[in-house]
Amino acid sequence: MKLLDGKVVVITGASRGIGMGIAKTFAGNGANVAFTYSSSEAPALALEKELMAHGVQAKAYKSNAASFAEAEQLVTQVLEDFGGRIDVLINNAGITKDNLLMRMSEEDFDTVIDINLKSVFNMTKAVQRTMLKQRQGSIINMSSVVGVKGNAGQTNYAASKAGMIGFTKSVALELGSRSIRCNAIAPGFIETEMTEKLDEKVVQGWRDGIPLKRGGTVQDIANACLFFASDLSAYVTGQVLNVDGGMLT
Ligand code: NAP
Repeated sequence: MKLLDGKVVVITGASRGIGMGIAKTFAGNGANVAFTYSSSEAPALALEKELMAHGVQAKAYKSNAASFAEAEQLVTQVLEDFGGRIDVLINNAGITKDNLLMRMSEEDFDTVIDINLKSVFNMTKAVQRTMLKQRQGSIINMSSVVGVKGNAGQTNYAASKAGMIGFTKSVALELGSRSIRCNAIAPGFIETEMTEKLDEKVVQGWRDGIPLKRGGTVQDIANACLFFASDLSAYVTGQVLNVDGGMLT
């Protein structure tokens, strides 16, 4: 018996990075995986095939998480395609548009808030009715240590990630009585495409400053998601789990 046998999981932004790692780990643990992408169609279709090789159902959907209407349409389609239930939602899609406040445009602020935070509202609203009917569900929001601590040059991103934490705790309070759990993960420095663009010397400096002396892996985050998605965390809701090698300790 695998940890997620037969569960239907929706993951936003799984065509790359952390989301892709979560999708692979979940399929390997028996979950049927519906996932979204924004523009990376070829990697998304390749992932769909790879997941199906685990003997589970998998499907890629092009859907902009920042759009309320597209989130609604997505969930309607997933319910049709996956037998009418959704057990787990992972709000993972996210972007950065870093700049000092002095130079940050209104557009870059709004875009980051829309894709990182409003998306969480859109998707949670869209699955809420289904989870209420089921009287069961787990929602996992991919925040960041930056949302806990703040970061110079990332006011938009930090605000979006901090907002996700307030949203997470509020949903946990609202929906707990129906056995719907909602938790956030705050990854530290995870080495993905998003971080590959950075200067290697700067990156090594960050690794040296982390108590566990390394950047995190996609698998480290996927493992935390597995805990929150499965019944191993049946009595855990409203929490923020820092997965950061001790960075914030
Ligand atoms: P990534 O490699 O850049 O991947 C981002 C994913 O989100 C891609 O699949 C992308 O799709 C999708 N996406 C972007 N905009 C979207 C939209 N509007 N609608 C739907 N999907 C969209 O990022 P990552 O490093 O894996 O990060 C994943 C999450 O973890 C993000 O929320 C990020 O803030 C958070 N996080 C990352 C780190 C880190 O160190 N990497 C640390 C803390 C938190 P396309 O491929 O089609 O563009």
